Amino acid sequence: MYQDLNKQVVVVTGGSRGIGRAIGERLAQEGMKVVINYHSNREEAQTVVDKIKAHGGQAVAVQGDVSQESDVHNLLQTALQEFGRLDVWVNNAGVESYAPTEKVSLSDWQKVIDINLNGLFLGSMAAIRHFLQQDQVGNIINVSSVHEQIPWPGFTSYAVSKGGSKMFTQTVAMEYAKHNIRINAIAPGAIDTPINAEKFADEANKQDTIDLIPMARIGKPKEVAAAAAWLASQESSYVTGATIFVDGGMTLYPSFAEGKG
Ligand code: NAD
Repeated sequence: MYQDLNKQVVVVTGGSRGIGRAIGERLAQEGMKVVINYHSNREEAQTVVDKIKAHGGQAVAVQGDVSQESDVHNLLQTALQEFGRLDVWVNNAGVESYAPTEKVSLSDWQKVIDINLNGLFLGSMAAIRHFLQQDQVGNIINVSSVHEQIPWPGFTSYAVSKGGSKMFTQTVAMEYAKHNIRINAIAPGAIDTPINAEKFADEANKQDTIDLIPMARIGKPKEVAAAAAWLASQESSYVTGATIFVDGGMTLYPSFAEGKG
């Protein structure tokens, strides 16, 4: 438990399922008041809010597309109206799209960049402007991916968006360090969430993924959420511009295992 998080306020984008849901629920356990952003599934988001409330926490579900500036503005305003402040902003919403690069349409490319990268920019900007206006300590957490480091053929837009997220995190961390605004990233490896449901439903595909992981298992959303709680808290007070890999060792060049190479 991180006592300093008690009664603080967080916005989690894409918080109705998967990693975002786990982060929202974990931060609520820490005593934070949570704004759960969802894109299209109100029922899913309400289930998360109801669960948090059933455990004595406070949460609200807010519809919004992270690639739309007005929707992002509304997320911030809801946090302020409902809970009176903002302490932490988690840019989690993300999508991926597969196609060999020569077959990627401009609109498919733009969709991934709009959500994964422009959404992260818009969310961070809303939070930073607010932190500066209030002259307060601020904290932003970006959910990136091992693909901010590992190239991923067929998922070029996704890998580019996460590579951009890495440089955004580092650049903005440097820019606002003097204002006590920290910005860090979490890079999950293969995590058991709806984004992977189809792939992992096929045992052979799932095993192909496990073969890339030194710890030889798929990660759990709550293992990513644990890193988010630490980054949100003052326990990480001297950490900014960092990426915490939560990947079972996926980024450790597993093809070199057992002395190969
Ligand atoms: P998910 O598909 O379960 O969740 C993604 C969430 O983002 C959904 O709730 C979706 O509604 C929301 N979203 C999509 N477009 C949106 C938009 N325009 N506005 C607002 N919300 C939107 O997937 P997940 O695995 O939980 O992914 C969460 C984050 O973790 C993503 O950024 C993803 O790239 C990253 N990630 C996931 C894995 C993994 O293995 N699951 C690995 C690395 C990184």
